[in-house]
Amino acid sequence: MAAEIQFQNTLTGKKEPFVPLHPPEVRMYTCGPTVYDFAHIGNFRTFTFQDILRRFLRQRGYQVNQVMNLTDVDDRIIQNAAQRGIGIREYTDQYIKVFLEDCAALSLERPEQVIRATDHIDDMVKLIQRLSEKSLTYTSDGSIYYRIAKFPQYGKLSKIDMSGIQPGARVEVDRYEKADARDFALWKAPKPGEHFWETPIGPGRPGWHIECSAMAMRYLGETLDIHTGGVDLTFPHHENEIAQSEAATGKTFVRYWLHAEHLNIEGEKMSKSLGNFYTLRELFEQGHKPSSIRFLLASVPYRRQLTFSLDGLQQAASSVERLRNLHFRLNLELASKTLPPGSDSQLSDRVAKALEEFDAGLADDLNTAKALGAIFTLVREVNPLLESKSLPEGNAQEVLALLENFDHIFAVLRDPTPEKDIVQASAIPLEPELLRLIDERQAARKRRDFKRADEIRQQLAGKGITLEDTKDGGVRWKRT
Ligand code: AMP
Ligand code: ZN
Repeated sequence: MAAEIQFQNTLTGKKEPFVPLHPPEVRMYTCGPTVYDFAHIGNFRTFTFQDILRRFLRQRGYQVNQVMNLTDVDDRIIQNAAQRGIGIREYTDQYIKVFLEDCAALSLERPEQVIRATDHIDDMVKLIQRLSEKSLTYTSDGSIYYRIAKFPQYGKLSKIDMSGIQPGARVEVDRYEKADARDFALWKAPKPGEHFWETPIGPGRPGWHIECSAMAMRYLGETLDIHTGGVDLTFPHHENEIAQSEAATGKTFVRYWLHAEHLNIEGEKMSKSLGNFYTLRELFEQGHKPSSIRFLLASVPYRRQLTFSLDGLQQAASSVERLRNLHFRLNLELASKTLPPGSDSQLSDRVAKALEEFDAGLADDLNTAKALGAIFTLVREVNPLLESKSLPEGNAQEVLALLENFDHIFAVLRDPTPEKDIVQASAIPLEPELLRLIDERQAARKRRDFKRADEIRQQLAGKGITLEDTKDGGVRWKRT
Protein backbone atom coordinates (compact mmCIF):
# COMPACT_ATOMS: atom_id res chain seq x y z
CA MET A 1 0.00 0.00 0.00
CA ALA A 2 1.39 3.35 -1.00
CA ALA A 3 1.69 5.93 1.76
CA GLU A 4 -1.13 8.44 2.04
CA ILE A 5 -0.29 11.77 0.40
CA GLN A 6 -0.23 14.61 2.89
CA PHE A 7 0.29 18.29 2.20
CA GLN A 8 0.94 21.14 4.56
CA ASN A 9 -1.94 23.49 3.86
CA THR A 10 -1.18 27.17 4.47
CA LEU A 11 -4.89 27.82 4.95
CA THR A 12 -5.31 25.48 7.93
CA GLY A 13 -1.69 25.52 9.05
CA LYS A 14 -1.85 21.71 9.17
CA LYS A 15 -0.58 18.72 7.30
CA GLU A 16 -3.65 17.13 5.73
CA PRO A 17 -4.39 14.04 3.66
CA PHE A 18 -4.71 15.03 0.02
CA VAL A 19 -8.02 14.04 -1.58
CA PRO A 20 -8.94 15.81 -4.82
CA LEU A 21 -12.52 16.86 -5.45
CA HIS A 22 -12.87 15.13 -8.83
CA PRO A 23 -10.51 12.15 -8.80
CA PRO A 24 -8.55 11.17 -10.76
CA GLU A 25 -8.34 14.79 -11.91
CA VAL A 26 -6.32 17.26 -9.85
CA ARG A 27 -7.09 20.90 -10.61
CA MET A 28 -4.14 23.05 -9.83
CA TYR A 29 -3.35 26.72 -10.36
CA THR A 30 0.11 28.23 -10.32
CA CYS A 31 0.95 31.91 -10.24
CA GLY A 32 3.31 32.32 -13.15
CA PRO A 33 5.95 34.97 -13.74
CA THR A 34 5.55 38.63 -14.49
CA VAL A 35 7.18 38.76 -17.89
CA TYR A 36 9.17 41.97 -17.78
CA ASP A 37 12.64 40.54 -17.25
CA PHE A 38 14.50 37.24 -17.04
CA ALA A 39 13.26 34.97 -14.28
CA HIS A 40 15.98 34.24 -11.69
CA ILE A 41 16.78 30.95 -10.02
CA GLY A 42 14.76 32.02 -6.95
CA ASN A 43 11.69 32.08 -9.17
CA PHE A 44 12.76 28.74 -10.57
CA ARG A 45 12.92 27.25 -7.11
CA THR A 46 9.18 27.79 -6.85
CA PHE A 47 8.57 26.54 -10.40
CA THR A 48 10.72 23.46 -9.76
CA PHE A 49 8.72 22.66 -6.61
CA GLN A 50 5.55 22.86 -8.70
CA ASP A 51 7.06 20.54 -11.27
CA ILE A 52 8.03 17.98 -8.62
CA LEU A 53 4.49 18.23 -7.26
CA ARG A 54 2.82 17.59 -10.59
CA ARG A 55 5.22 14.80 -11.52
CA PHE A 56 4.59 13.07 -8.20
CA LEU A 57 0.82 13.36 -8.53
CA ARG A 58 1.06 11.95 -12.04
CA GLN A 59 3.24 9.10 -10.85
CA ARG A 60 0.49 8.34 -8.34
CA GLY A 61 -2.00 8.04 -11.20
CA TYR A 62 -3.69 11.44 -10.98
CA GLN A 63 -4.52 13.44 -14.09
CA VAL A 64 -3.08 16.82 -13.38
CA ASN A 65 -4.83 19.79 -14.91
CA GLN A 66 -2.50 22.67 -14.17
CA VAL A 67 -3.02 26.26 -15.22
CA MET A 68 -0.21 28.80 -15.10
CA ASN A 69 -0.80 32.47 -15.85
CA LEU A 70 1.68 34.83 -17.38
CA THR A 71 1.32 38.34 -15.99
CA ASP A 72 1.85 40.33 -19.18
CA VAL A 73 0.47 43.65 -18.00
CA ASP A 74 1.54 45.66 -14.97
CA ASP A 75 3.12 49.03 -14.18
CA ARG A 76 6.66 47.96 -15.03
CA ILE A 77 5.63 46.31 -18.28
CA ILE A 78 3.67 49.35 -19.40
CA GLN A 79 6.52 51.64 -18.45
CA ASN A 80 9.31 49.59 -20.03
CA ALA A 81 7.40 48.96 -23.26
CA ALA A 82 6.57 52.67 -23.58
CA GLN A 83 10.20 53.59 -22.95
CA ARG A 84 11.25 51.27 -25.72
CA GLY A 85 8.53 52.53 -28.04
CA ILE A 86 6.96 49.10 -28.54
CA GLY A 87 3.60 47.60 -27.63
CA ILE A 88 3.25 45.59 -24.41
CA ARG A 89 2.52 42.47 -26.43
CA GLU A 90 5.73 42.78 -28.40
CA TYR A 91 7.64 43.62 -25.23
CA THR A 92 6.33 40.67 -23.23
CA ASP A 93 6.53 38.17 -26.14
CA GLN A 94 10.29 38.11 -25.89
CA TYR A 95 10.30 37.39 -22.16
CA ILE A 96 7.65 34.71 -22.48
CA LYS A 97 9.77 33.00 -25.09
CA VAL A 98 12.78 33.12 -22.82
CA PHE A 99 10.79 31.92 -19.82
CA LEU A 100 9.48 28.90 -21.70
CA GLU A 101 12.99 28.09 -22.96
CA ASP A 102 14.31 28.30 -19.42
CA CYS A 103 11.54 26.02 -18.17
CA ALA A 104 12.39 23.48 -20.85
CA ALA A 105 16.09 23.70 -19.98
CA LEU A 106 15.22 22.82 -16.38
CA SER A 107 13.01 19.93 -17.54
CA LEU A 108 9.92 21.58 -16.12
CA GLU A 109 6.87 19.91 -17.61
CA ARG A 110 4.66 22.37 -19.44
CA PRO A 111 1.41 22.95 -17.48
CA GLU A 112 -1.70 21.93 -19.39
CA GLN A 113 -2.54 25.62 -19.85
CA VAL A 114 -0.05 28.47 -19.95
CA ILE A 115 -2.16 31.57 -20.45
CA ARG A 116 -1.66 35.29 -20.77
CA ALA A 117 -3.51 37.79 -18.63
CA THR A 118 -4.15 40.12 -21.57
CA ASP A 119 -6.08 37.34 -23.36
CA HIS A 120 -8.54 37.20 -20.46
CA ILE A 121 -9.59 40.80 -19.89
CA ASP A 122 -13.25 39.83 -20.51
CA ASP A 123 -13.17 37.23 -17.75
CA MET A 124 -11.73 39.79 -15.35
CA VAL A 125 -14.31 42.41 -16.28
CA LYS A 126 -17.12 39.89 -15.71
CA LEU A 127 -15.75 38.97 -12.31
CA ILE A 128 -15.51 42.62 -11.31
CA GLN A 129 -19.10 43.11 -12.45
CA ARG A 130 -20.17 40.17 -10.28
CA LEU A 131 -18.45 41.75 -7.29
CA SER A 132 -20.01 45.13 -8.02
CA GLU A 133 -23.48 43.57 -8.15
CA LYS A 134 -22.84 42.36 -4.61
CA SER A 135 -21.76 45.86 -3.53
CA LEU A 136 -18.22 44.70 -2.83
CA THR A 137 -16.62 47.42 -4.89
CA TYR A 138 -16.46 51.19 -5.09
CA THR A 139 -15.22 53.52 -7.78
CA SER A 140 -12.87 56.38 -7.28
CA ASP A 141 -11.34 58.47 -10.08
CA GLY A 142 -12.32 55.82 -12.62
CA SER A 143 -10.57 53.00 -10.75
CA ILE A 144 -12.53 50.24 -9.06
CA TYR A 145 -11.54 49.03 -5.61
CA TYR A 146 -12.45 46.00 -3.51
CA ARG A 147 -14.01 46.90 -0.19
CA ILE A 148 -12.23 44.57 2.22
CA ALA A 149 -14.48 45.51 5.13
CA LYS A 150 -17.27 43.61 3.32
CA PHE A 151 -15.37 40.31 3.44
CA PRO A 152 -15.03 39.44 7.12
CA GLN A 153 -12.88 36.39 6.45
CA TYR A 154 -10.15 38.56 4.96
CA GLY A 155 -6.84 37.46 6.47
CA LYS A 156 -7.70 33.78 6.92
CA LEU A 157 -4.85 32.57 4.69
CA SER A 158 -2.06 34.80 5.88
CA LYS A 159 -3.50 35.10 9.42
CA ILE A 160 -3.05 38.80 9.13
CA ASP A 161 -4.60 40.91 11.85
CA MET A 162 -7.05 43.31 10.26
CA SER A 163 -7.85 45.30 13.37
CA GLY A 164 -6.68 48.87 13.10
CA ILE A 165 -6.90 48.87 9.32
CA GLN A 166 -8.85 51.87 8.12
CA PRO A 167 -11.77 50.86 5.92
CA GLY A 168 -11.64 52.72 2.63
CA ALA A 169 -7.86 53.18 2.65
CA ARG A 170 -6.20 51.93 -0.49
CA VAL A 171 -3.03 51.50 -2.44
CA GLU A 172 -2.42 52.19 -6.10
CA VAL A 173 0.57 50.01 -6.82
CA ASP A 174 0.62 46.58 -8.40
CA ARG A 175 3.21 45.19 -6.07
CA TYR A 176 3.34 45.85 -2.38
CA GLU A 177 6.76 46.48 -0.99
CA LYS A 178 5.60 45.74 2.52
CA ALA A 179 2.66 43.94 4.10
CA ASP A 180 -0.06 46.53 3.85
CA ALA A 181 -3.64 45.36 4.20
CA ARG A 182 -5.80 47.93 2.54
CA ASP A 183 -8.37 48.03 -0.19
CA PHE A 184 -6.86 47.00 -3.46
CA ALA A 185 -7.53 47.96 -7.05
CA LEU A 186 -9.51 45.56 -9.18
CA TRP A 187 -9.48 47.86 -12.17
CA LYS A 188 -7.18 50.81 -12.80
CA ALA A 189 -8.14 53.89 -14.72
CA PRO A 190 -5.55 54.71 -17.40
CA LYS A 191 -3.02 57.41 -16.73
CA PRO A 192 -2.42 59.77 -19.68
CA GLY A 193 -0.71 58.01 -22.56
CA GLU A 194 -0.96 54.62 -20.87
CA HIS A 195 -2.10 51.39 -22.47
CA PHE A 196 -5.76 50.59 -21.65
CA TRP A 197 -8.76 48.49 -22.63
CA GLU A 198 -12.18 49.95 -23.42
CA THR A 199 -14.68 47.78 -21.49
CA PRO A 200 -18.22 47.86 -20.03
CA ILE A 201 -16.73 48.87 -16.67
CA GLY A 202 -14.85 51.76 -18.24
CA PRO A 203 -11.46 52.24 -19.82
CA GLY A 204 -8.47 50.88 -17.92
CA ARG A 205 -6.59 47.73 -17.12
CA PRO A 206 -6.93 44.97 -14.56
CA GLY A 207 -5.14 44.87 -11.22
CA TRP A 208 -2.79 41.98 -10.68
CA HIS A 209 -4.93 40.03 -8.20
CA ILE A 210 -8.09 39.84 -10.30
CA GLU A 211 -6.09 38.13 -13.05
CA CYS A 212 -5.49 35.01 -11.08
CA SER A 213 -9.02 34.68 -9.68
CA ALA A 214 -10.57 35.12 -13.11
CA MET A 215 -8.19 32.85 -14.97
CA ALA A 216 -8.17 30.11 -12.34
CA MET A 217 -11.97 29.91 -12.23
CA ARG A 218 -12.31 30.15 -16.00
CA TYR A 219 -10.28 26.98 -16.56
CA LEU A 220 -10.62 25.06 -13.31
CA GLY A 221 -14.07 25.88 -11.97
CA GLU A 222 -15.02 27.75 -8.83
CA THR A 223 -13.28 25.37 -6.43
CA LEU A 224 -9.69 24.30 -7.11
CA ASP A 225 -7.82 21.46 -5.50
CA ILE A 226 -4.40 23.09 -5.24
CA HIS A 227 -3.02 26.60 -5.59
CA THR A 228 0.72 27.13 -5.46
CA GLY A 229 3.17 30.01 -5.35
CA GLY A 230 6.11 31.36 -3.42
CA VAL A 231 5.54 32.42 0.22
CA ASP A 232 5.80 36.08 -0.72
CA LEU A 233 2.53 35.72 -2.62
CA THR A 234 0.54 34.57 0.42
CA PHE A 235 -0.15 38.17 1.34
CA PRO A 236 -1.60 40.17 -0.19
CA HIS A 237 -1.90 38.39 -3.55
CA HIS A 238 -3.45 35.09 -2.49
CA GLU A 239 -5.44 36.67 0.30
CA ASN A 240 -6.94 38.98 -2.32
CA GLU A 241 -7.60 36.09 -4.69
CA ILE A 242 -9.63 34.41 -1.93
CA ALA A 243 -11.53 37.63 -1.18
CA GLN A 244 -12.39 38.16 -4.85
CA SER A 245 -13.32 34.58 -5.69
CA GLU A 246 -15.15 33.55 -2.55
CA ALA A 247 -17.13 36.78 -2.29
CA ALA A 248 -18.24 36.30 -5.91
CA THR A 249 -19.12 32.61 -5.75
CA GLY A 250 -19.90 31.94 -2.10
CA LYS A 251 -17.77 28.80 -2.45
CA THR A 252 -14.37 27.70 -1.19
CA PHE A 253 -11.89 28.90 -3.81
CA VAL A 254 -8.95 26.60 -3.06
CA ARG A 255 -8.79 23.48 -0.89
CA TYR A 256 -5.01 23.17 -0.53
CA TRP A 257 -2.70 26.17 -0.55
CA LEU A 258 0.94 25.18 -1.02
CA HIS A 259 3.67 27.80 -0.68
CA ALA A 260 7.34 27.38 -1.44
CA GLU A 261 9.87 29.04 0.84
CA HIS A 262 12.44 31.32 -0.62
CA LEU A 263 15.76 30.74 -2.19
CA ASN A 264 18.21 32.91 -0.30
CA ILE A 265 21.66 34.10 -1.10
CA GLU A 266 24.04 35.40 1.56
CA GLY A 267 21.22 35.57 4.09
CA GLU A 268 18.79 37.50 1.91
CA LYS A 269 15.93 36.56 -0.36
CA MET A 270 17.10 36.38 -3.95
CA SER A 271 15.16 39.09 -5.72
CA LYS A 272 15.27 41.38 -8.68
CA SER A 273 14.93 44.46 -6.53
CA LEU A 274 17.95 43.58 -4.38
CA GLY A 275 19.97 42.76 -7.49
CA ASN A 276 21.40 39.64 -5.79
CA PHE A 277 20.19 37.17 -8.36
CA TYR A 278 21.49 34.66 -10.86
CA THR A 279 19.61 33.87 -14.02
CA LEU A 280 19.78 30.38 -15.45
CA ARG A 281 21.63 31.66 -18.48
CA GLU A 282 24.36 33.22 -16.36
CA LEU A 283 24.92 29.88 -14.66
CA PHE A 284 24.90 28.00 -17.98
CA GLU A 285 27.43 30.44 -19.35
CA GLN A 286 29.63 29.70 -16.35
CA GLY A 287 29.45 26.04 -17.34
CA HIS A 288 26.89 24.78 -14.85
CA LYS A 289 24.48 22.17 -16.12
CA PRO A 290 20.70 22.44 -15.97
CA SER A 291 20.60 19.12 -14.11
CA SER A 292 22.83 20.39 -11.27
CA ILE A 293 20.66 23.49 -10.87
CA ARG A 294 17.47 21.46 -10.94
CA PHE A 295 18.87 18.98 -8.43
CA LEU A 296 19.93 21.76 -6.07
CA LEU A 297 16.57 23.51 -6.30
CA ALA A 298 14.66 20.27 -5.75
CA SER A 299 16.82 18.77 -3.02
CA VAL A 300 15.64 20.92 -0.12
CA PRO A 301 11.96 20.37 0.81
CA TYR A 302 9.89 23.24 -0.52
CA ARG A 303 8.69 24.43 2.88
CA ARG A 304 12.27 25.06 3.99
CA GLN A 305 14.42 27.97 2.93
CA LEU A 306 17.23 27.07 0.59
CA THR A 307 20.51 28.90 0.61
CA PHE A 308 22.10 29.16 -2.78
CA SER A 309 25.86 29.02 -3.20
CA LEU A 310 28.19 27.99 -5.99
CA ASP A 311 29.64 25.38 -3.61
CA GLY A 312 26.18 23.94 -3.13
CA LEU A 313 25.80 23.84 -6.88
CA GLN A 314 29.06 21.88 -7.19
CA GLN A 315 27.85 19.40 -4.61
CA ALA A 316 24.59 19.02 -6.49
CA ALA A 317 26.59 18.33 -9.65
CA SER A 318 28.55 15.56 -7.93
CA SER A 319 25.39 14.00 -6.51
CA VAL A 320 23.93 13.90 -10.02
CA GLU A 321 27.22 12.46 -11.31
CA ARG A 322 27.06 9.67 -8.71
CA LEU A 323 23.62 8.66 -9.88
CA ARG A 324 24.53 8.93 -13.54
CA ASN A 325 27.61 6.77 -13.00
CA LEU A 326 25.57 4.07 -11.36
CA HIS A 327 22.95 4.31 -14.10
CA PHE A 328 25.63 4.05 -16.76
CA ARG A 329 27.46 1.17 -15.05
CA LEU A 330 24.28 -0.83 -14.54
CA ASN A 331 23.36 -0.49 -18.21
CA LEU A 332 26.88 -1.36 -19.27
CA GLU A 333 27.19 -4.47 -17.08
CA LEU A 334 23.75 -5.67 -18.10
CA ALA A 335 24.49 -5.15 -21.77
CA SER A 336 27.82 -6.91 -21.57
CA LYS A 337 26.38 -9.70 -19.40
CA THR A 338 29.15 -9.51 -16.83
CA LEU A 339 26.92 -9.94 -13.78
CA PRO A 340 25.88 -13.24 -12.16
CA PRO A 341 22.49 -14.48 -13.40
CA GLY A 342 19.33 -14.62 -11.27
CA SER A 343 18.51 -12.47 -8.31
CA ASP A 344 18.90 -12.43 -4.58
CA SER A 345 15.57 -12.15 -2.76
CA GLN A 346 17.02 -10.23 0.17
CA LEU A 347 18.46 -7.68 -2.22
CA SER A 348 15.13 -7.51 -4.05
CA ASP A 349 13.44 -6.69 -0.74
CA ARG A 350 16.07 -4.06 -0.09
CA VAL A 351 15.42 -2.33 -3.45
CA ALA A 352 11.65 -2.55 -2.92
CA LYS A 353 12.11 -0.94 0.50
CA ALA A 354 14.14 1.91 -1.02
CA LEU A 355 11.38 2.50 -3.55
CA GLU A 356 8.79 2.50 -0.79
CA GLU A 357 10.81 4.99 1.24
CA PHE A 358 11.35 7.20 -1.80
CA ASP A 359 7.63 7.32 -2.45
CA ALA A 360 6.77 7.77 1.24
CA GLY A 361 9.18 10.71 1.44
CA LEU A 362 7.41 12.46 -1.40
CA ALA A 363 3.99 11.59 -0.01
CA ASP A 364 5.03 13.34 3.19
CA ASP A 365 4.44 16.89 1.94
CA LEU A 366 6.99 16.37 -0.85
CA ASN A 367 9.89 15.75 1.49
CA THR A 368 12.47 15.55 -1.26
CA ALA A 369 15.34 15.27 1.22
CA LYS A 370 13.81 12.12 2.69
CA ALA A 371 13.14 10.72 -0.79
CA LEU A 372 16.72 11.40 -1.90
CA GLY A 373 18.02 9.87 1.33
CA ALA A 374 16.35 6.58 0.40
CA ILE A 375 17.99 6.60 -3.04
CA PHE A 376 21.48 7.52 -1.90
CA THR A 377 21.47 4.96 0.92
CA LEU A 378 20.76 2.28 -1.63
CA VAL A 379 23.37 3.62 -4.03
CA ARG A 380 25.95 3.34 -1.26
CA GLU A 381 25.02 -0.31 -0.74
CA VAL A 382 24.88 -1.25 -4.41
CA ASN A 383 28.09 0.41 -5.60
CA PRO A 384 30.49 -2.05 -3.87
CA LEU A 385 28.45 -5.01 -5.12
CA LEU A 386 28.71 -3.70 -8.64
CA GLU A 387 32.40 -3.02 -8.17
CA SER A 388 33.03 -6.65 -7.19
CA LYS A 389 30.61 -7.82 -9.90
CA SER A 390 28.56 -9.63 -7.29
CA LEU A 391 25.28 -7.84 -7.96
CA PRO A 392 22.96 -10.38 -9.58
CA GLU A 393 21.47 -9.41 -12.92
CA GLY A 394 17.88 -9.44 -11.67
CA ASN A 395 18.76 -7.05 -8.87
CA ALA A 396 20.67 -4.81 -11.27
CA GLN A 397 17.46 -4.56 -13.31
CA GLU A 398 15.56 -3.62 -10.17
CA VAL A 399 18.03 -0.91 -9.21
CA LEU A 400 17.85 0.43 -12.74
CA ALA A 401 14.06 0.54 -12.53
CA LEU A 402 14.35 2.36 -9.20
CA LEU A 403 16.64 4.96 -10.76
CA GLU A 404 14.20 5.48 -13.63
CA ASN A 405 11.40 5.85 -11.12
CA PHE A 406 13.45 8.44 -9.25
CA ASP A 407 14.11 10.24 -12.50
CA HIS A 408 10.43 10.51 -13.43
CA ILE A 409 10.30 12.96 -10.53
CA PHE A 410 13.77 14.49 -10.29
CA ALA A 411 14.60 14.43 -14.01
CA VAL A 412 18.36 14.87 -13.70
CA LEU A 413 19.85 11.75 -15.27
CA ARG A 414 19.91 13.39 -18.69
CA ASP A 415 20.38 17.05 -19.54
CA PRO A 416 17.59 18.06 -21.90
CA THR A 417 19.36 20.29 -24.40
CA PRO A 418 23.05 20.69 -25.03
CA GLU A 419 23.93 23.68 -22.86
CA LYS A 420 25.49 25.34 -25.89
CA ASP A 421 22.07 25.78 -27.51
CA ILE A 422 20.68 27.42 -24.44
CA VAL A 423 23.55 29.85 -24.22
CA GLN A 424 23.00 30.72 -27.86
CA ALA A 425 19.31 31.21 -27.23
CA SER A 426 20.28 33.98 -24.84
CA ALA A 427 20.87 36.08 -27.95
CA ILE A 428 17.15 36.83 -27.78
CA PRO A 429 16.26 39.06 -26.09
CA LEU A 430 19.04 41.29 -24.83
CA GLU A 431 20.65 40.79 -21.47
CA PRO A 432 19.07 43.01 -18.79
CA GLU A 433 22.14 45.24 -18.46
CA LEU A 434 22.04 46.00 -22.20
CA LEU A 435 18.33 46.72 -22.01
CA ARG A 436 19.06 49.06 -19.12
CA LEU A 437 21.59 50.90 -21.27
CA ILE A 438 19.01 51.30 -24.01
CA ASP A 439 16.59 52.71 -21.44
CA GLU A 440 19.24 55.09 -20.19
CA ARG A 441 19.87 56.28 -23.74
CA GLN A 442 16.16 56.84 -24.31
CA ALA A 443 16.07 58.96 -21.17
CA ALA A 444 19.11 60.92 -22.39
CA ARG A 445 17.44 61.56 -25.76
CA LYS A 446 14.33 62.77 -24.00
CA ARG A 447 16.28 65.37 -22.06
CA ARG A 448 18.15 66.22 -25.29
CA ASP A 449 21.47 65.02 -23.91
CA PHE A 450 22.63 63.78 -27.32
CA LYS A 451 26.23 63.46 -26.21
CA ARG A 452 25.32 60.82 -23.62
CA ALA A 453 22.92 59.17 -26.05
CA ASP A 454 25.72 58.83 -28.61
CA GLU A 455 28.14 57.48 -26.05
CA ILE A 456 25.70 54.74 -25.18
CA ARG A 457 25.04 54.01 -28.86
CA GLN A 458 28.78 53.47 -29.33
CA GLN A 459 29.09 51.42 -26.19
CA LEU A 460 26.34 49.12 -27.46
CA ALA A 461 27.89 48.98 -30.93
CA GLY A 462 31.03 47.69 -29.22
CA LYS A 463 28.89 44.86 -27.87
CA GLY A 464 27.47 44.10 -31.30
CA ILE A 465 24.14 45.86 -30.83
CA THR A 466 22.93 48.29 -33.48
CA LEU A 467 20.24 50.77 -32.57
CA GLU A 468 17.69 52.19 -34.90
CA ASP A 469 15.64 55.17 -33.71
CA THR A 470 12.03 55.13 -34.84
CA LYS A 471 10.01 58.14 -35.97
CA ASP A 472 7.77 58.11 -32.91
CA GLY A 473 10.75 58.48 -30.56
CA GLY A 474 11.10 54.75 -29.89
CA VAL A 475 14.08 52.55 -30.59
CA ARG A 476 14.70 49.15 -32.14
CA TRP A 477 17.81 47.06 -31.80
CA LYS A 478 19.45 44.23 -33.61
CA ARG A 479 22.50 42.15 -33.14
CA THR A 480 25.15 42.55 -35.77
P1 AMP B 1 7.27 36.98 -10.00
O1 AMP B 1 7.77 36.87 -11.41
O2 AMP B 1 7.98 38.00 -9.18
O3 AMP B 1 5.76 37.11 -9.94
O4 AMP B 1 7.61 35.60 -9.26
C1 AMP B 1 7.31 34.33 -9.79
C2 AMP B 1 7.32 33.26 -8.67
O5 AMP B 1 8.62 33.18 -8.06
C3 AMP B 1 6.36 33.56 -7.53
O6 AMP B 1 5.71 32.36 -7.16
C4 AMP B 1 7.26 34.06 -6.42
O7 AMP B 1 6.70 33.81 -5.15
C5 AMP B 1 8.49 33.23 -6.64
N1 AMP B 1 9.73 33.79 -6.07
C6 AMP B 1 10.21 35.05 -6.16
N2 AMP B 1 11.41 35.18 -5.52
C7 AMP B 1 11.70 33.94 -5.00
C8 AMP B 1 12.79 33.41 -4.23
N3 AMP B 1 13.84 34.13 -3.88
N4 AMP B 1 12.72 32.10 -3.88
C9 AMP B 1 11.67 31.34 -4.24
N5 AMP B 1 10.62 31.77 -4.96
C10 AMP B 1 10.62 33.06 -5.35
ZN1 ZN C 1 -1.44 34.83 -8.93
